[in-house]
Amino acid sequence: MANILLVDDRPENLLALEGILLPLEQDLLYAHSGEDALRLLLLNDVAVILLDVQMPGLDGFETAALIKHRERTRHIPIIFVTAISKGEEHVFRGYSAGAVDYVFKPFNPDVLRSKVAVFIELHEKTEQLRRQAELLKEQELAELRRESEERYRFLAEAQPDQIWTATPKGQLDYVNQRALDYFDASFAAMVEQGWTEVIHPEDLGRTLERWQHALDTGHLYENELRLRRAADASYRWHLTRAVPMQDRRGEIVKWFGSNTDIHDQKRAEEAQRFLVEAGATLGGSLDYRTTLAAVAKMAVPRIADWSRVDILEHGKLRTLAVEHVDPAKLELALELARRYPEDPDAAQGPPLVLRTGSSELVTEIAEETLAELAVDDLHLGLVRELGFQSYMCVPLLARDRVLGVISFVAAESGRRYGPDDLALAEELARRAGTAIENAQLYREVEERAQAARVLATVADGVFLVDREGVVRLWNEAAEAITGLPREGVVGRSAEEVLPGWSHLAARVPIAGAPGPAASETMPLELAGGERWLSISGVGFDEGTVYAFRDLTEERGLEEMRQDLVATVSHELRTPLAAIYGSALTLARDDLELEPALNTKLLGVIVDESERLADIVNDLLLASQLDAGKLEVRIEHCDARSLTESVVEAARTHLPEDLTLELEAAEADLPPVAADEGQLRQVLGNLIDNAIKYSPDGGDVRIRLEPADQCVRFAVADRGLGIPSGEQARIFEKFYRLDPHMTRGIGGTGLGLYISRELVRRVNGRIWVEPNDGQGSVFYVEIPAASEPLGGNRPRKAASAPA
Ligand code: ADP
Repeated sequence: MANILLVDDRPENLLALEGILLPLEQDLLYAHSGEDALRLLLLNDVAVILLDVQMPGLDGFETAALIKHRERTRHIPIIFVTAISKGEEHVFRGYSAGAVDYVFKPFNPDVLRSKVAVFIELHEKTEQLRRQAELLKEQELAELRRESEERYRFLAEAQPDQIWTATPKGQLDYVNQRALDYFDASFAAMVEQGWTEVIHPEDLGRTLERWQHALDTGHLYENELRLRRAADASYRWHLTRAVPMQDRRGEIVKWFGSNTDIHDQKRAEEAQRFLVEAGATLGGSLDYRTTLAAVAKMAVPRIADWSRVDILEHGKLRTLAVEHVDPAKLELALELARRYPEDPDAAQGPPLVLRTGSSELVTEIAEETLAELAVDDLHLGLVRELGFQSYMCVPLLARDRVLGVISFVAAESGRRYGPDDLALAEELARRAGTAIENAQLYREVEERAQAARVLATVADGVFLVDREGVVRLWNEAAEAITGLPREGVVGRSAEEVLPGWSHLAARVPIAGAPGPAASETMPLELAGGERWLSISGVGFDEGTVYAFRDLTEERGLEEMRQDLVATVSHELRTPLAAIYGSALTLARDDLELEPALNTKLLGVIVDESERLADIVNDLLLASQLDAGKLEVRIEHCDARSLTESVVEAARTHLPEDLTLELEAAEADLPPVAADEGQLRQVLGNLIDNAIKYSPDGGDVRIRLEPADQCVRFAVADRGLGIPSGEQARIFEKFYRLDPHMTRGIGGTGLGLYISRELVRRVNGRIWVEPNDGQGSVFYVEIPAASEPLGGNRPRKAASAPA
């Protein structure tokens, strides 16, 4: 049914129209004015309008113009009905106002009815067309929607992630196959149970809270949570996101969500973080027990619900540390370790790992396995109480040695160990092993440093010779005693560095480490001369450590003491015997002595007494020189007259087969700066020796000559001579070339020593050279007195340079 709007200010006209149009069986709307008509048009859909032209207020034309002006009503056909405005201009106005017809009264009711009927029909047709078009559009839209839905689903199914959608209230209405597979659930089951069943209990509270917040606010939802995988009942970390889709009015029509598996990435991050923290803890102690206890602690709860560290001690595994996530169960774990020590031959668990050095991983421990492995009911009870779900055991390696094992057990957490967990556990054990190794190395280095400090400070020489005979260590005292610097010794063979070592080494007593060794004193030929060393050795795996002490000085003193006693007693005994013999003879009263013999015997007594006095004087002088107590009185001395007087004195007891000549230089000799008495003694010694050591006679020549700022005395003989190797040593105290007097020539060995010391004290020099062919020449150089001395200045003989 369509509406026909009748507009006329006169009710009777409306009534007339009603009568004409009723047979059309359409709805009739009545308006009494233009305004009235406009209002009705706002509320109703109208097929045709019959409009009176002359009306108070808005007339027909004005009303038509307003109707045509409105978008919604401009298409409605208008038929003007009038009795008065029949003029042409009115008709024209009517048509230009948009009228489809202009009807004059009186009109034929049938004609008007048919006209209206035509417009009604037209309206209905148009309506029908419009509806059809709308229907078509709707169908197309539905098709489009279906297609886009399909495309979206297709996209969702092709995703590697779990994709889902939910109603605005959060009810699941789509889950992709991937998700269904993961949870091994049907879509219906998923929709019914929702997420709560598959989310890790620890993550559930947080997840629900966030999801509710997103639903309430319409904000993006994002969360990290663990979702249980049906295949192995393990929980894997996922990143869940959901975005709301809104319509044009901003109302949420759907939530689009996705769950992305971030398990591996998350575990890798966690593992990395864990290992970094572990590294810091492990490095914190030098005691390996502390380190290992720390490992057990760190593992719980991040890797295991409980963990245990067993170490190898005396061939057996001993539990060093146990940790449990539940303090109440810690006691049970300890009890288990105490009561049931590991069977070293067990085919699984710590003993196996210890034997093989390889890890063990049991992802799922079946109840039957536990029962099988249990030793007795109590054992099984303990194990059940503790809960064994998944297990891994890794070796603790340090320097390729298995120190022990670390066991990790998953119980109430429900986690299952996989290769990733094993890799993490192995890495943890590896780091613990390294930490222990480092601590050991540190201790060793520290010990070595201490040993090195001790070695550097001990007074004994210490050196190490390895099995190949190469010196590996040479301490500071060894350097000082031998004069061989470390750089020249270490790394070279001992034989090369210490001549005759292989021969000597055989004599060194070697103790097995670490006992003390007796020592052996032996001479070692070194660049600075022979050194007497007291050496002992200790053998150990890598070679032998030798310790030695320098006894050269002690030995020299001892020798000297023996020499002194022997020489002095002999030297004293000879004159004493002569004196004693002469005195005895003189004292005899049964014998009348010739006066000449009498005189001679008295002469012997005098001479030998003088000789005794000389020996005693020499001894006294030597001891004064040693003690630095000898006074030196330096003055200008005339070398020539002094030498002449010494030569003259010597001539008095010259053997017959010997000649003594003084060859003074022609040139003038400068005075020398010396202590005259002492210089006289030096020259006297040299001339006496020249005579004494020329047992077969010959010439003794004394020469005097100026030298560089000094005067040189030379005493040359044709006597026994001095081997070149002994030329320095004859100046040593008590040193004699022939200590046993095989040639019958006596002496104390003090003369040259005293001479050298006296010469040194006036800054002179003394030395010996061979006399070409035979004998020796002793030289003494005394500095010339360069400036007049201001009187006789006594001075203490001190450490004057030689
Ligand atoms: P002494 O003559 O009392 O033994 P010296 O100190 O004077 O002591 O001399 C030391 C040693 O030097 C002598 O024992 C001797 O062997 C050697 N000697 C000294 N002078 C000569 C010399 N002119 N010719 C050979 N040997 C000498």
